[in-house]
Amino acid sequence: MAERLTTDPLPLLRDLIRIDTTNPPGNERACVDYLTARLAHRDELNVKVLARTPDRANLIVRFPGRGVAPPLLLHGHSDVVPVTGQRWQHPPFAAELIDGEVWGRGAVDMKGGLSMMLTALTRLHESGQRPAGDVVLAVVADEEHGSINGARWLTAEHPELFSGIRYGIGEEGGAGLDLAGLRIHPVVVAEKRACWYRATVRGPGGHASRLSPPGMAAGQLGTLLTRLSGARLPRHLGPAARRMLTDVAQALPEHLATAVRALRDDPTDAPPAGLPQAAALQLDSVLRHTVNPTVIRAGDKINVLPGEASAELDGRILPGEHSREEFEAEIRALIGPDAELDLLVEGLAVRQDRIAEPMFGGFYDLLTELTSKADPGAVPLPMVTPAATDAGFFAGLGIRCYGWLPMNLPAGAEHRTLLHTADERIPVEALEFGTSLLTELLRDYR
Ligand SMILES: [Zn+2]
Repeated sequence: MAERLTTDPLPLLRDLIRIDTTNPPGNERACVDYLTARLAHRDELNVKVLARTPDRANLIVRFPGRGVAPPLLLHGHSDVVPVTGQRWQHPPFAAELIDGEVWGRGAVDMKGGLSMMLTALTRLHESGQRPAGDVVLAVVADEEHGSINGARWLTAEHPELFSGIRYGIGEEGGAGLDLAGLRIHPVVVAEKRACWYRATVRGPGGHASRLSPPGMAAGQLGTLLTRLSGARLPRHLGPAARRMLTDVAQALPEHLATAVRALRDDPTDAPPAGLPQAAALQLDSVLRHTVNPTVIRAGDKINVLPGEASAELDGRILPGEHSREEFEAEIRALIGPDAELDLLVEGLAVRQDRIAEPMFGGFYDLLTELTSKADPGAVPLPMVTPAATDAGFFAGLGIRCYGWLPMNLPAGAEHRTLLHTADERIPVEALEFGTSLLTELLRDYR
């Protein structure tokens, strides 16, 4: 293992992958200990370790700037999702280097991102340059399991650590778009939030050996599932989605551009036509809340009519001023009044009025300019992601957060889709690309 952090993100990433921080249980302390040992000699850094529970440590590093701009936040999580039940071609915690790619859980999500951020800070330090404002790096625990020990707790209990910060950079949440060979650089400008329910229907039970009475639970559940299947809830076109569709259209050949503009502008909200299915579903999903049945339960004995049947619903609410009540009313309109709806999880609603800065403009332009300069053939795109990250907690403090971990991946590369699945890996070249762009951001940030 390295004695101190170097200007090469590769050894750092390989060490981080080998520290198993599968959450649950997390054990992010091991990762924080590794990093603090290698930061300790930099006495000019303000280093804090904070933990709600001892094994779940968070690390906050403050790199002093010149004080001519507000502090900038870099946030990344050190935990990873489990690998149980997955068939990996190479062991997930060995960080093997194969054909120019580092394999392992967290290679992209997001020990790769953390390595880029930490190395960018090291490069800045070695160059003797100071950023315009302080850079606050938050290495947080527990992102993959509700952030109870990480960003949720830190922002609630220690908001002073983040005071005065205007912009934040975090992960992309796997934002990507596979369309017409476009090589894209996503900049996530807004996130949907989760709103999960259990829908339960009840009906007469009884012996399953005779004709079933009307209203049996399994039948009612079938009706409910049919209504939800492929349903498009009402359209709410927000500013981030509008800009995303506009920029996507601009980058596409004319026949596809027309289809994307139609999706953006059609007042009748007709289903998207003329686009490949995966892209159509993705773009259509940023125009509306979504809800999908996932876990289905009814009965546990073959000769007994179940008196109760349920479906867990993965709901996602658009960014912006949309309440849970509005979302629930839309689901009700679809499924009718009979099912009981129990709220299981609701993601934090970001109060847009607390964020002073518009999502587009100066800082956003800086991110896209840096990307375009480094990779002229690719297209930077503003994205709304259906995945919720820790950005929501920092945005709750009034910080304008962006998902931006630039990687120069070929068009159609599967790396962004391998998060949370087997064979997660990152090309060394992409790791270097992201590191050098983050270093430039720290230098150019005003
Ligand atoms: Zn992540």
